[in-house]
Amino acid sequence: MNCKYCNSDLAVFHTDMFDNRYGYPGQYTMWKCHDCDHLSLEGAFTPEMLQELYSKYYPRKHLDINAWEPFEKVSGLKAWFGGLKSAAYHWIPANVRILDIGCGFGQTLGYHQNRGCEVHGVEADDNIRRVEEKYGFNIKVGLFDPEQYTPGYFDYVTMDQVIEHVTDPVASMQGIAKILKPGGKAILTTPNAKGWGVTLFGKKWAHWHTPYHLHLFSKKSMKKYAAAAGLELERSITITNSEWLHYQWLHMAAYPKPGEISVFWTPNMPRTASQRLKMKVLAGIHRLKINYLITRFFDALNVGDNSIYFLKKPM
Ligand SMILES: [Zn+2]
Ligand SMILES: [Zn+2]
Repeated sequence: MNCKYCNSDLAVFHTDMFDNRYGYPGQYTMWKCHDCDHLSLEGAFTPEMLQELYSKYYPRKHLDINAWEPFEKVSGLKAWFGGLKSAAYHWIPANVRILDIGCGFGQTLGYHQNRGCEVHGVEADDNIRRVEEKYGFNIKVGLFDPEQYTPGYFDYVTMDQVIEHVTDPVASMQGIAKILKPGGKAILTTPNAKGWGVTLFGKKWAHWHTPYHLHLFSKKSMKKYAAAAGLELERSITITNSEWLHYQWLHMAAYPKPGEISVFWTPNMPRTASQRLKMKVLAGIHRLKINYLITRFFDALNVGDNSIYFLKKPM
């Protein structure tokens, strides 16, 4: 097999990858491009299979509409130390026209609206309808469809931890390019395939998230994929929420066998005494801010686990 955007060979990177969170059956091969280091579960899923994957295996939280609050602006030392600017919405200026693709439970929409933006959202999870009914945002429920928008309409488009889940990232980016105005920007966050975590944790890296993550980008592959969609990669940085490293340790402490469910990722599962003890110890370590220091160190070297890509539609 060849990498779609470099004509370079794909090599097997990991075999026997499995759903180590929710127990979806099957084993998967992760492929790596020799040239751009892009990692993918090439050809593992059709869109129909994905529908079953998400509707049957992905736990949707019971979100409480009465507890809904927009996200708030974070700044200063606390934001830096916690890696709190890891999400795309923090990078959107006030008073712009913005579309958030994969807006979850809509807290980003409230954030942008409070800052004078004209805000639109897309979300596949039905739960967003409750937010729409109560707060009246412009929301499309379903998959992102660029035909539903006026070409050249938006100043900004964001995708927060979404691009790695789609079967055809270039098609998504082409859609984004179409609805952005010339000079408009897309901000994408996604786990970093070239970070220290991949190297150190190997197959147990928490962000493989097999088989939900179909594409893991390097800076080089993002540049190529974006270019194929008509977007320029302006810059990329890594900012990783310190909680992610805490989750990494918990993920390993509760690592399941293939076909089994992780007690860490699935709420309300009975835990063994040894799992409870490990989790308690890890929570104590997290309170000592050790995860914060490690995360800040690797982000300073730009090899953190979360990449933020700033893409621009040429003028
Ligand atoms: Zn490649
Ligand atoms: Zn994800």
